[in-house]
Amino acid sequence: MTPSRTYWDQAEILPLSKLQKNQLSAINAVLARARKQSTFYKGKIRSTRIDSLSQISNLPLTRKDDLRKASLWDTVVVKREDIAEYHASSGTTERPYIMAMTKRDIKVSNDTLARTWYMHGVRKGHLIQMMVSYGLFTAGLLNQYAIQRIGANIVPAGAVNSEQQISLMKKLVPDFLVAVSSHFLRLISFAESHDYKLPKFRGLIGGGVPVSSQDRTWIQTKLRSPFFNQYGLAEINTGLAGECEYHDGLHIQSDYAYPEIIDPQSEEPLTEGEEGVLVLTALKRDGQLLIRYVTNDITSLNFSPCRCGRTLPRLSPIKGRVDDTIFVKGMKLDTAYLASLLGELSPRNSGTNWRLTISRTHGRDHLKLAINLPAELDAEYVKQFLQEKLSLTIDEVDVQNKTLPEDEHKPKHILDLRKLEALC
Ligand SMILES: [Zn+2]
Repeated sequence: MTPSRTYWDQAEILPLSKLQKNQLSAINAVLARARKQSTFYKGKIRSTRIDSLSQISNLPLTRKDDLRKASLWDTVVVKREDIAEYHASSGTTERPYIMAMTKRDIKVSNDTLARTWYMHGVRKGHLIQMMVSYGLFTAGLLNQYAIQRIGANIVPAGAVNSEQQISLMKKLVPDFLVAVSSHFLRLISFAESHDYKLPKFRGLIGGGVPVSSQDRTWIQTKLRSPFFNQYGLAEINTGLAGECEYHDGLHIQSDYAYPEIIDPQSEEPLTEGEEGVLVLTALKRDGQLLIRYVTNDITSLNFSPCRCGRTLPRLSPIKGRVDDTIFVKGMKLDTAYLASLLGELSPRNSGTNWRLTISRTHGRDHLKLAINLPAELDAEYVKQFLQEKLSLTIDEVDVQNKTLPEDEHKPKHILDLRKLEALC
């Protein structure tokens, strides 16, 4: 579609009724493919047709664990040689999910994600400094392709340290910085401690982890530039939703991923404005199908028209998660995986009592692990072990902690002292 001056794609301003009609036929096409081609869904999906969008709630949910247990090839619905690229979920702090994309997937992804970047104000000729990891991490390459689709230019800085990032900024003066939201806090504290004055930017684009309203204000004030929130997930795609210039919720590309909100306990659908768990159905994926995927992210949906003119519904900023995943140091940490690693350290004492205390000072997370381990294991060994397995630094480890309750029925393993209620 020819880009207009205000929007990248006219699909962003379709009347809601037309959008919903398209969503319904896309869901039915996905169901037909699932029944016919998907080893993963064949036994699960009984009908190949729904007559209204509300009937989607009759279809089974797909959970992260279902995907992790399945073999990659059960989820792929095309020939192996048709997979052009493989990407994976963010860090090594959780068991990775592999995303298999055909050439068509890449093209559709570029066209769809380009809308999100255009919405943030990215235009042809702008320079974007990407401070996110490349390699398997979807946020790197897939977003880079979409930005290049607009005709903007890239500094693929990746995850180099703050000093190198700042040196690049000074030399190249990018229009936009892109990072996991919490990395902006690190950048600010590094620049301040070294007396570096950073230039103003057209925009700071952050995703990956929820950002509190206080942190957001801090980032915008210190860097004298507007902040744009973005949301995506490896299972469907990165950069799926983002803020327009009015910063009033994140427009979701809902002709690409159909959003629903469900109650986390009853799993019943919730209505507009009600807060619950975001469930997404991939409508345009070619290599893999994903039906009613439970993201575990807490948000709500707003269908009212936005001042920018887009009719794409808006997600409220993600408030947190309902599963075992927590966000620390800009990464996702699967606490069930951490528990299994700690169990490996002390196999004779499985279910080892431990506590991870998370605090935050000047925008930096501090992790302290208290655990009782056999005398031959010292703190340095445990730190090193977890660093290798999780790519995450535990700042303090106390291996002979006497304050842990010995016989707690449901031990509280994570003590998060950051103000999670402040997340918005
Ligand atoms: Zn808008």
